[in-house]
Amino acid sequence: MEQKCKRCGLKTALSEADIEKMVEQVTSMRGVRLVAEEEYERRLSICKSCDKLEYGSTCMLCGCVVRVRAYLADGRCPYPKRSKWIMEK
Ligand code: SF4
Repeated sequence: MEQKCKRCGLKTALSEADIEKMVEQVTSMRGVRLVAEEEYERRLSICKSCDKLEYGSTCMLCGCVVRVRAYLADGRCPYPKRSKWIMEK
């Protein structure tokens, strides 16, 4: 039986097609501000090495699919004490 998140109802193990569809939906929405591709890739590379990433797709702190959230200009990394997406100065 397919496992689902108790909080949001999404499947816990998303397929590549599921994720691509979600990214397509969010990136094509009107009025949604997106980051540049370079920033998107920077964020994703941080997520890929994060101990809070599960199933290779989902942040266990907020339940978001990081390939979607990383595109959002207003998206934040919820890592405790200090967002991992904040750039070093
Ligand atoms: S805590 Fe931040 S860096 Fe880690 S998976 Fe979640 S969004 Fe990505």
